[in-house]
Amino acid sequence: MLVNKKFDVIVIGGGHAGTEASLVAARSGAKTLLVTQDQSTIGEMSCNPAIGGIGKSHLTKEIDALGGAMALAADRAGIQFRILNASKGPAVRATRAQADRQLYKQAIQSIIQKQPNLFVISGSVEDLIIKNYQANGVVTDALEKYYAPCVVLTVGTFLGGRILIGNEESSGGRIGSSASIKLAQRLRELPFCVSRLKTGTPPRLLKKSLNFDVMEKQPGDVPTPVFSFLSERKDHPQQINCHITRTNCKTHDIIRSHIHESPMYSGVIEAVGPRYCPSIEDKVMRFSSRNSHQIFVEPEGLNHKTVYPNGISTSLPFHRQIEFVRSIRGFEKAEITQPGYAIEYDYFDPRDLKPTLETKYISGLYFAGQINGTTGYEEAAAQGLLAGLNAQRRAKGADDWFPLRHEAYIGVLVDDLITRGVSEPYRMFTSRAEYRLLLREDNADQRLTPIGYDLGIVSKKHWQIFQEKQEALNNESQRLKHIKIKKNSLTQSDKKILGFKLNDNCRASDLLCRPELKYVDIISLSSVGQGNYSKKLTLQQIEKIELELEANAKYKGYIDRQQKEIKKQSKHEKLKLPTDINYFEVCGLSNEASQKLSNILPATLGQASRLEGVTPSAISLLLIHLKKRQMQKSA
Ligand code: FAD
Repeated sequence: MLVNKKFDVIVIGGGHAGTEASLVAARSGAKTLLVTQDQSTIGEMSCNPAIGGIGKSHLTKEIDALGGAMALAADRAGIQFRILNASKGPAVRATRAQADRQLYKQAIQSIIQKQPNLFVISGSVEDLIIKNYQANGVVTDALEKYYAPCVVLTVGTFLGGRILIGNEESSGGRIGSSASIKLAQRLRELPFCVSRLKTGTPPRLLKKSLNFDVMEKQPGDVPTPVFSFLSERKDHPQQINCHITRTNCKTHDIIRSHIHESPMYSGVIEAVGPRYCPSIEDKVMRFSSRNSHQIFVEPEGLNHKTVYPNGISTSLPFHRQIEFVRSIRGFEKAEITQPGYAIEYDYFDPRDLKPTLETKYISGLYFAGQINGTTGYEEAAAQGLLAGLNAQRRAKGADDWFPLRHEAYIGVLVDDLITRGVSEPYRMFTSRAEYRLLLREDNADQRLTPIGYDLGIVSKKHWQIFQEKQEALNNESQRLKHIKIKKNSLTQSDKKILGFKLNDNCRASDLLCRPELKYVDIISLSSVGQGNYSKKLTLQQIEKIELELEANAKYKGYIDRQQKEIKKQSKHEKLKLPTDINYFEVCGLSNEASQKLSNILPATLGQASRLEGVTPSAISLLLIHLKKRQMQKSA
């Protein structure tokens, strides 16, 4: 219990959204309170202990570029790192780390403990204090009241959480944690559109009961990738292998013949689950022609006694889980330490949110994370950062800030949520971004760290290192532009490196544009040589510079084209739409468009243009209407 009960920002829930929300608010100077059910679970990974992957690593690196915690914690906890899509273009390459769940939790908790302005208490929030549609604070289960003009709600899968294993049903936010029942009831009294979604998790297996000798080994990449701009390889703990095995016809037969025992198929769970993370029941029934599915056998930690069999999420009864698990190669003697389960929970229609994640109906109340219909730690953390930042800015009377679609995956995520809503748990993919070549994971710092520094959420030290790196990047780029490669002065070794006949003299930077040549090839040419980097830069930062130079050179044409397109569209992107507009009075607007616009009340003309049924001609009519309104007002 705290004596002083007045804060600038209160964050409810210490999951992935809540930690980034409370850290960013406190980092930018707001007196912040984090209320979470149990402090010792801060940084808990409810499902697989892994960070990153396609689209998700872009979010993680953007959070890092804005001074957040997720990438730093992943570096301190990652026990197997890989670059996914390594052979593809830089826009879709993604870093992924299997983490030691204990080390991850410790890393997050240590960052939270060291954060000035941040107060943390254990307690369950059961009520919100709201006056005249304005958030004012929270009431905990101990009937303590805490006050703040801005409250960020990040309670994940806990609102009315219902856990199902076969026909056994219990209330819970995840296994071992109580659901939030009173808060869920209170929120249903408010004018939000609430619905249900579901997700699931596989059984956890006792490591020593498995036969890894018959499974395929999956080592991490060497050199080991690094997540955070501020980390080095030496921050990683010991690296170990993951393994791969597969389901087989026998596994599928067991699942098929007992499918009616799965709550998902017996109709007990009606909510929609994540399409990209289907249960094994779903995979067997939907893809009936396939007689095998891959299972990634992923360690939960260096000294953790269990492993996570990624790919067999299930809600079949426990005894059936044992049966089908033991039909899998290497799992013949598997002991299950925790059964797989499905969970159903409340989420809110994110179309009721502004681009800052403030709710449209209650000022000062922000929603972030799984409660907005997303799935995944990274999606939750990204929203937490945005909501916490804007809550702090509102509390201090500063302007809102949110990135646009061409600036960050965080912008794509939020715009997709608030404009289109969700019909199934939303996860990030690179395919969701139309400006993928601009939004690479390697340039997240260039896109966002200067903005983060201006917003006061990137530390001076971070900013200084960023500037040193930028200077080195620019110097190396200039150096390559000034080095002439003369076709008549090539050595035998140069010719071998190039692998083609150079017809004309050119600059080293021109060669970097060629798809068959890498940066390492260019600096191996006798007339080029190594870049001259400051000793202040770490090896990882130098590797990052090389990646950026290569991507910028190779994709320059496409990047320039995307930038031109953005410039063309940006005229109207940020034009704010008044909230009191009557869309049915806009001359010539179709009924469908008026209806859509009235329901969603888009914040900007850009957001309006992305609504289904709102055509380019509807946008022109809106612009005319806005001009008329402006003229009438000034008259
Ligand atoms: P959470 O991490 O759930 O954190 C919520 C926090 O709020 C908790 O600390 C809780 O104690 C606290 N809290 C709740 N109610 C209150 C209250 N009233 N007062 C105070 N504190 C409160 N993601 C994937 O990407 N892939 C998957 O396959 C996947 N499977 C999952 C399976 C299961 C069974 C579960 C539970 C989750 C799964 N997830 C998966 C989702 C992933 O765990 C979430 O996306 C992520 O944790 C959401 O983060 P969050 O911050 O929104 O909420």
